[in-house]
Amino acid sequence: MKDKKIETQAIRHQIETTHAKEHASPLFLTSSFTYESAEEMRAAFAGELDRNIYSRFSNPNFDEFITKLCLMEGAEAGYAFATGMSAVFSTFAALTQSGDHIISSRSIFGSTHSVFTKVFPKWNIQTTYVDLNETETWEQAIQGNSKLLYIETPTNPGIDLIDLAWAADFAKKHGLIFIVDNCFATPYLQQPMAFGADLVIHSATKFIDGQGRVLGGATVGHKNLIDEIYAFSRSTGPALSPFNAWILSKSLETLAVRMDRHSENALKISEHLSSNPKIAWVKYPFLPSHPQYEIAKKQMKAGGGVFAFGIKGDATQGQHFLDAIEMCSLTANLGDTRTIVSHPYSTTHAKLSEEEKEKVGISPELIRVSVGLEHVDDIVSDLEKALKSI
Ligand SMILES: *Cc1c(COP(=O)(O)O)cnc(C)c1O
Repeated sequence: MKDKKIETQAIRHQIETTHAKEHASPLFLTSSFTYESAEEMRAAFAGELDRNIYSRFSNPNFDEFITKLCLMEGAEAGYAFATGMSAVFSTFAALTQSGDHIISSRSIFGSTHSVFTKVFPKWNIQTTYVDLNETETWEQAIQGNSKLLYIETPTNPGIDLIDLAWAADFAKKHGLIFIVDNCFATPYLQQPMAFGADLVIHSATKFIDGQGRVLGGATVGHKNLIDEIYAFSRSTGPALSPFNAWILSKSLETLAVRMDRHSENALKISEHLSSNPKIAWVKYPFLPSHPQYEIAKKQMKAGGGVFAFGIKGDATQGQHFLDAIEMCSLTANLGDTRTIVSHPYSTTHAKLSEEEKEKVGISPELIRVSVGLEHVDDIVSDLEKALKSI
């Protein structure tokens, strides 16, 4: 499958069918797997046979999903997790020990921020945040014990971009393991491994499922690092369930067409809103007005399904706008078939201090839109009506 295109890999990589010769992949709802003899069981446990043992370690549906994602990301190996956060936590916990130091771009997912600032310090693992593409702050953050570099691009909810090739060079120069959260772009729009990432993390809950049904996560990348993550996770138990793996593997089959449409809709809507008098600014990677438009063109196939904009007026306007929305959903998720509008300042990022919010650009006027697959005219009309009413 390595020689096939990403759309084909997503559809045609499949585990073996059962005696029924079903066309779609079978679902293996089983906790464990059986053996013909004591010797066979010994060999399976010793790792001498390529066999499943227990669904906390592996399962055919888990294998189908993660192998497919590895093909699509151009990665050697991977492990699938119950949630995006278990992927983030387990990856860092597996690769660090007390006294290690993490360097992370400042604008990251809220729960990842909590793990870095509240959980890891308990084990004396400290994190220093660096600002977008400001070379000096990155250089200044380096310590003798720095081990990992972590970034998200595009960032949530600011829709800023980080130059992947530049960050990979920086990591290489300082001997850091380079990890990218590729949740917003998905492997269809951006493949961080091709730019020099060592590991790629996903919340599969978002665009990979794409239909707001299940939670899931994954880490893929170089085999030597995945081996450590596997050893940690096999014992600690954050594995993706077979049922969710089955759903997510099916979801990957439609990822390319969904991402094309999400991106097409998001570009049209962000262009449209750019001229709305109630709006101060619009940020979308594939709008030429985006300050990092050149970086977007270099590392992404299209702009993805999420954009942000700033409403003119005082701090209450964002919430008034949300109240005036009729069709789009007010919910915490993103990457759904349904368009989702959120006000990060008062919800997902409310726990950040005022200073942190300001540093990552989460202002009271910021609205984040995860553009769905409804007809673009209906989404535009819903947003414009709400804007008109405030
Ligand atoms: C949602 C999200 C996560 C966490 O994933 P869950 O599946 O909710 O645990 C991590 N990173 C990013 C960028 C996300 O959007």
